[in-house]
Order: sequence, then C-alpha cells, then structure tokens
Amino acid sequence: MKKRWMICDGCSRTFPFRYDGGICVCGGVLLVQYDLEEIKHSRIRESWRERPATMWRYHELLPVAGTEHIISLGEGGTPLIRLERWEKKLDLDRVWLKREEQNPTGSFKARGFSAALSLLRERGETQVAVNSNGNAASAMAAYAARAGMEAYVFVPRDCPGMILEELVQYGARACLVDGLIHDAGKVVEDGKEEMGWVNVGTAKEPGRVEGKKTMGLELAEQLGWEMPDAVIYPTGGGSGLIGIWKAFTELKELGCVSGDLPRFITVQEVGCTPIVDSIRSGAEKIRPYGATTSRPTGVRVPRPPAGELILSIIRNTGGTAVAVTAEEIAESGKMLGQEGISASPEGSAVWAGLLRLVESGEIGTGERVALFNTAHSLKYLPWKAAATIPEIRSYDEYRALRDVDHAKPEESS
Ligand SMILES: *Cc1c(COP(=O)(O)O)cnc(C)c1O
Repeated sequence: MKKRWMICDGCSRTFPFRYDGGICVCGGVLLVQYDLEEIKHSRIRESWRERPATMWRYHELLPVAGTEHIISLGEGGTPLIRLERWEKKLDLDRVWLKREEQNPTGSFKARGFSAALSLLRERGETQVAVNSNGNAASAMAAYAARAGMEAYVFVPRDCPGMILEELVQYGARACLVDGLIHDAGKVVEDGKEEMGWVNVGTAKEPGRVEGKKTMGLELAEQLGWEMPDAVIYPTGGGSGLIGIWKAFTELKELGCVSGDLPRFITVQEVGCTPIVDSIRSGAEKIRPYGATTSRPTGVRVPRPPAGELILSIIRNTGGTAVAVTAEEIAESGKMLGQEGISASPEGSAVWAGLLRLVESGEIGTGERVALFNTAHSLKYLPWKAAATIPEIRSYDEYRALRDVDHAKPEESS
C-alpha cells in the first residue's frame, strides 16, 4: 500500500491522508506527501520512460492507492514544441510551448479530474459536484461519465456555449448560476449535506493539484530532466501553478533534476487580477477582486482559495505577475495561430505576458522559458447552446428546480 499523508503548507503540520483535505484550520493548503526515499531507490526515471505516455506513468507520485481505481481517458503525454522563430526575434535561448489543448476535453483540467475522480472511486463515491468557469465542469463531466458517477456542475451564466453543449453531451446535470465562480461554489457547498455530493472544487480535495502536477513532471522529462528558467502560467484558482511547482520540488528531492526552481510567472486578464495586484503591491494576502469585468475564462477567479501559497511560490522563486488586456490576448491568439497553434484566451494571455515581460526586461536575453497553452480555442467560439439549462441564484432555487427534476438536461424521450 502506498504511503501517503498530508502536510499543511501554512503551519507545516502533518495529517493522515484525507480525501477531503483541502484547506487546513490555519488557512494553509493541505498537500499530499509521498515516501520519496522509497521511490528514489528504484531507477525511477527509467521505469517512467518505459511506460505509456499518459500522466499515469508517474503513478508513484499520484495519490491513488492502487492502479485498479484509475479513471483514464488518455490524459497527459502532451507535446512540447519549440517556437524557434520567436526565440530569435525575442533574443531568448529557448521558448517552449506545452500543448495542453490536446488533452481529453481540450484542456489541462482533464489531468486534475482524472486524479481526483480516481481517488473518489477508490473511496466509493458516486456523486460529484463542481463550480467552474467551464473547462473544469466539462472535464469533470467527462471523467464522471467514464467512472459511472453522477456529475453536478455549476457554471456562471456567461459560460461559453460550446462548453455548455459539452456538459450536456457528457450527461452532467448542469446549472447556470447568476454570478461568478465563487457564487457557484456556494451552491455546491450549500447542497453538500442534502445532496450527498462531493465538492471537487479548487482546494476542496487533494486530487486536482496532484493531477495538474503531472504537467511539471512531463515538462522536466521532455527537457531531458532539466527545468526551464521561467514558467509562465495563466492563473485562476492557482492549482495549475501549485501543481507545477510541487512537481519540480518533488523531482529535486528525488534527485531527478537539480538547480534552482524556475521563476514562476502568473498572467491574468485586466478586469480580474487579484494575484497580479497582490504581487505588484507587495501584499501578504490576496484581496478579493471587486467589480470583475474580464471575460468568462479560466483565469477569472476573483477569490483564489489558495492565494497565499500562490503568492509565496511566485515570490520565493523570484517570479512575477502580469496583467494583459483583452486586445493583447486577441492579438496574441493570432500570433500563435501563425505558428499553427489553436490557442485559448488563457494560452494567448500567456503569450501576451511573455511579450510584455521581454519588453520590460523582466525576461532577459538567453533565458529558457516554458509556456502553457491550457486549452483549445474552439471551446470559446461564439455558440448558442441548444440545450435548455436552468439558471439559479442559490442552492434553495436549485432545490426547487430539482424537486420538479428540471435540473437534469433535457433528454429525448
Ligand atoms: C482553469 C483554467 C486556467 C486556470 O488554472 P488554475 O489551475 O485554476 O489556476 C487556465 N486556463 C484554462 C484554459 C483553464 O481552464
């Protein structure tokens, strides 16, 4: 049986492994720990290389106790490409782009839900719920379908129509919420007891960070067990960034990579920039963002629940955070398109962030930079969902709907 336990990143206390381990009583984030000494002695890099190229090749570093519970749709193993022309133009040594849009459901969210729902299957859970700006909802819907679990998803009413269509196709019970992602999160929390669903939202359980961690494990392996000088990531709830940081930290401890961790750089869109504002103003804690005006993408998260950990990762690695405008994002999408990449608004924001930081000199000559295209652009095409998905403001409204069974997407009878 795999040894696994939790450590609080805030107060450093350790706890037995917890399926619902998210936030510690001190407010810190509970992170899964493994017996790295045990893993270390087993020619681990060689055995990883010999396995199929999915994220589960790193199962020693994933929290599922036994491989029989794994729910997989072929996630991970995404290509890493170099953008040589831009290396010259920007005077950088290397510019890599990790093509996360090639994951099942078209975004890196697949990694998190493959790990999270595998854990919940291990525990015998059958009902899962999530609040999401869209991609997490569609990933959870797909993995729940694969696992034979019932999925309840709550997304802001302006969620891209193509994603709503996906939710219905995967058979999730979907609801639009009149509000933002944290309002949708309140519906999930309020319904937990009565509905018996497990909240798989950001920082509510340990699996999603661990799944997203495999982006960092893969990146290091694809770079021949080296780390880049900088990682630029579009940050919303922050578990992607936390996962990649945790990957490098564990690989260092295993002796698989050496040297300094890369600088972690966050990009957000103007109109919802809680992390950028905190980094630029030197704040200790994240202040919830007020009147949010940015568009419905994965980085529109006014109240990131693991805020302090994100700030400390950025600061301790000498990183930074940058806000880019909708216009810069649109322009960047075209530039990546010229390279043959279907970049989501979030992936385009990363590119816009790189250009900004090169111009300001915060990323300099000769650096080796890794970028992430976190989703496929097709998911954001203007599209009016054919399904009728009910809209609510609270769990009470949901309950009223549920009682007349409107909450289930319409089925052909
Ligand atoms: C969720 C999401 C993000 C933000 O990731 P976090 O791990 O929540 O910070 C970025 N890009 C896309 C496409 C997403 O779906």
